[in-house]
Amino acid sequence: MNTKNNKIFMSMILIMIILFVFIGGVSLYLVRSSNRVLYDFVLNIILIITILLSLFTLISMIMMICILYNKKISRFSINWLKYSLTIIYSNIMYLASFMRIDKDSIRSVFAQINNKINIYSQLSVKPEDILILLPHCIQKSICPHKITTNIENCKRCGLCNIDDLLKLKEKYKVQIFVATGGTLARKIIKELKPKLIIAVACERDLSSGIKDVKRIPVIGILNERPEGPCVNTYVNVEKIEKTIKYFISEEE
Ligand code: SF4
Repeated sequence: MNTKNNKIFMSMILIMIILFVFIGGVSLYLVRSSNRVLYDFVLNIILIITILLSLFTLISMIMMICILYNKKISRFSINWLKYSLTIIYSNIMYLASFMRIDKDSIRSVFAQINNKINIYSQLSVKPEDILILLPHCIQKSICPHKITTNIENCKRCGLCNIDDLLKLKEKYKVQIFVATGGTLARKIIKELKPKLIIAVACERDLSSGIKDVKRIPVIGILNERPEGPCVNTYVNVEKIEKTIKYFISEEE
């Protein structure tokens, strides 16, 4: 868990709440200094909305902190977070652009909270209903074998993670596909109709994928990029195996 990223994420939420309170305070001031009834009414509405928004954000923030630090969380809180996370995340991203804050740190915390929500949802699926979606850059760039159409075209030389991931496919009978982009990923999901997706990608692709796929739970796993973005990336295969085991535990 990256505590620095968590702090940035939570600070952004606090700034959002401060902004809401500021807007509410300004409205209150204007209401006090005005005599017109309609004007008062409209500003009172604004005030009520800002108070509700602040409360909504504050409650969500407390729940996010609890889930991030593995505190016990109720079913109600999980359902609350399922709806509030995307709304708050979108607003934080606007703030981050405005304040020129590293968006990847926000994206990684978003993926982390999303994972925890799915983990705490006590979902249990059959292995064949699990789809592992991989980015193309996980394949060694010098490899001549085309695995995007069929991952089985890999010759199992062990130079990249594909070999180990195929072992997982054989061991658990899960589905694995390599997607070259969002369009292909969406097509694969539409055809296979999985009940759980384990997506491997960078912070940007992961967060947009999680936001895109609304009806299927997505567990996001960040890839490692020792040679920079989009080339010869790696994934922690043990993490993927642990995730598979967690979600099929009751079925096995
Ligand atoms: S493990 Fe497979 S995909 Fe990776 S470099 Fe070797 S043959 Fe190519």
